[in-house]
Amino acid sequence: MSRRVTLLGATGSIGTSAADVIAAAPDLFDVHVVTARSNGAKLAEVARSLGARRAVVADEAGLGDLREGLAGSGIDAGAGAEAMEEAAAEPVDLVLSAIVGAAGLRATAAAIRSGSDIALANKECLICAGSAFMSLARQHKVQVLPVDSEHNALYQLLDKREAADIRTYTLTASGGPFRTWSVDRIAQATPQQAVAHPTWSMGAKISVDSATLMNKGLELIEAHHLFSLAPDSLDVIVHPQSVVHALITFRDGSIHAELGPADMRRPIGYCLHWPDRVREPVSSLDLAEVAQLTFEPPDLERFPALGLAMSALRKGGGAATVLNAANEVAVEAFLAGKVAFTAIPQIVEIALTAADSEGLLATPASIDEALALDAVARRLAQADLKRRRAVA
Ligand code: NAD
Ligand code: MG
Repeated sequence: MSRRVTLLGATGSIGTSAADVIAAAPDLFDVHVVTARSNGAKLAEVARSLGARRAVVADEAGLGDLREGLAGSGIDAGAGAEAMEEAAAEPVDLVLSAIVGAAGLRATAAAIRSGSDIALANKECLICAGSAFMSLARQHKVQVLPVDSEHNALYQLLDKREAADIRTYTLTASGGPFRTWSVDRIAQATPQQAVAHPTWSMGAKISVDSATLMNKGLELIEAHHLFSLAPDSLDVIVHPQSVVHALITFRDGSIHAELGPADMRRPIGYCLHWPDRVREPVSSLDLAEVAQLTFEPPDLERFPALGLAMSALRKGGGAATVLNAANEVAVEAFLAGKVAFTAIPQIVEIALTAADSEGLLATPASIDEALALDAVARRLAQADLKRRRAVA
């Protein structure tokens, strides 16, 4: 029987890789819904090629192009936030959550409430609403399968393991495009340099997060929630080849690692076919060709965003929600050429300090509370951006 799937964020980097995985085994999947932000023409193409039943753009401005692109196909077209949530709530076997940012939270939560299992790429929605998100999933007995490569690796490593036997959970980081750059050079980094990732090909926002190392910090918080891991048991190591994705260290000192090519179709395929393993459209990893695997500690001086995320993780409560929202605002401003690369962690730190001093860092008890705190944090970050522009 084919698996009913929905792709939220079908036109993005993850969405396109998922479409490749599905196209490689078309008989195994029945695509129900595909969604995108505003590019109706591109979404119509994806919907047609996957034989989807319904296509929805979040932004109503994209509906004209979507309708035009779908003319004569028999595929339903929809637009707007409500239509997105409704489409996400259509019960299927698996929903791939691959929208970027906390903007994907409502649709992902709607899918959970309908009892669909989730293949989670959208880490920001988990960082924003951590505990509320995971307890909603437990309440609806929904599986959350991690797409993020490091978490997918941990998921595989943890299979049938006793938590009591494991001392440390380590995520690897490529180090990003500025790994070897001096502080002065990093300060001059342009958006174009920041999105040129050395090992992974990804959307703009996560590429900037990889350049600041905020991505690895978000991933520590992601791992904490996904696998209920204590902050002190989580660790990061820089591994520029991106061949090892995660490691677990047992209490007897033995270390197990997961290795694989740096191609997101691998973890996406793992989730889409789970619990089966099939041959993915991915070239195999030739370790003799890679020849060397190197490791080094992360440098928190040159990459302060990672330190900020680590303290938000230890602090708990709403700190991660604020960190994530302020980071989204700061990255968008950097990509738009409005602030320097080094302003990103500064904006995040200022929003965190302001939220803390206003007593706003209690744990959000629900998705709605998380989104309310997210909105406040965005305003704090915007206010800081405004001050910077006034000074500049
Ligand atoms: P992307 O920018 O390439 O694609 C984002 C998708 O979401 C697009 O389909 C876009 O139309 C849609 N979208 C954007 N804003 C939206 C909004 N406000 N409402 C509705 N839809 C919206 O991003 P990506 O690189 O594919 O990343 C998607 C998610 O997966 C992110 O959370 C990212 O952190 C995570 N992730 C990505 C990779 C990767 O290799 N790209 C790896 C691990 C995790
Ligand atoms: Mg990752």
